[in-house]
Amino acid sequence: MTALRSEGLLPGGLVEGGARTRTYAFRPLDGAVELALGEVVVDAPSLPVAVTRALCATLATLGDAPASAERVDALCVADRQFLMRELQCLCDASTRWLVATCAVCGERFDLEVDLRALPVTPAPAPFPLASGTHDGRVWHARLPTGADQAWLARADAASLGNDDVGGDDKDIADLETRLMQRLLLDGTDPHLSENPATPGLREAVEAALDAVAPGVVTTLGAPCPVCGQVNAVTTDPYERLGTGLDDLLRQVYALASHYHWSEADILRLPRSRRHAYLALLDTAVETA
Ligand SMILES: [Zn+2]
Repeated sequence: MTALRSEGLLPGGLVEGGARTRTYAFRPLDGAVELALGEVVVDAPSLPVAVTRALCATLATLGDAPASAERVDALCVADRQFLMRELQCLCDASTRWLVATCAVCGERFDLEVDLRALPVTPAPAPFPLASGTHDGRVWHARLPTGADQAWLARADAASLGNDDVGGDDKDIADLETRLMQRLLLDGTDPHLSENPATPGLREAVEAALDAVAPGVVTTLGAPCPVCGQVNAVTTDPYERLGTGLDDLLRQVYALASHYHWSEADILRLPRSRRHAYLALLDTAVETA
């Protein structure tokens, strides 16, 4: 059995004051952490905000400092996916049964995936930055972060409020342009920063940013057992968000009813000890 990693190295990392920090550590997993993880989605306005709240509630440190919302928001998207997947593996077994439907013959089949075995590649320098020229003009850009995802979710919600005719494609193009404006940095040729919709610029910037991004694989190839076609199957790195709450509350209820401990005391128990008491309780009920 693989030891659970509650600390490790981010594939990307935080760049603060010119230095890149990659270490992180989760808090010891107890009921209070699990409760926070289950409840973060309740009033979060968007998925990126829920992810930030979940990571703030569960991380003890990023580098040598606490994981504030601002610092968690500053992590690149792949780091946030990586941390959410690590968290999911800490909370549950890392193996999952997924259901896939073959794109060629339509066969539905199950496949077992070990989330821990999915490849993770550290970001190469000059992460999180990329530079290049477009039509002879220089640009500098940075990888999108959680803050950009949250901004995009807010802007998307606002544009959904516009019911102008045929607005969808125009709205998407407009959002892409505004996102590009956020990602282009000082030192970029003013002509490009003022015209982020310049043809070909977005594709060039995206390709250069992809090359410095950490690799966190969320999609895997699954061969169909009937026709052999290799199908792309996607795992959800945010799967654990908002789940587990009912189970946790049932466990608290069972322990509180039997032992008359307070909710706070039960939530403070390390997860393994809570489960051990529940197992003892099961045995006591069976033999009674
Ligand atoms: Zn098939």
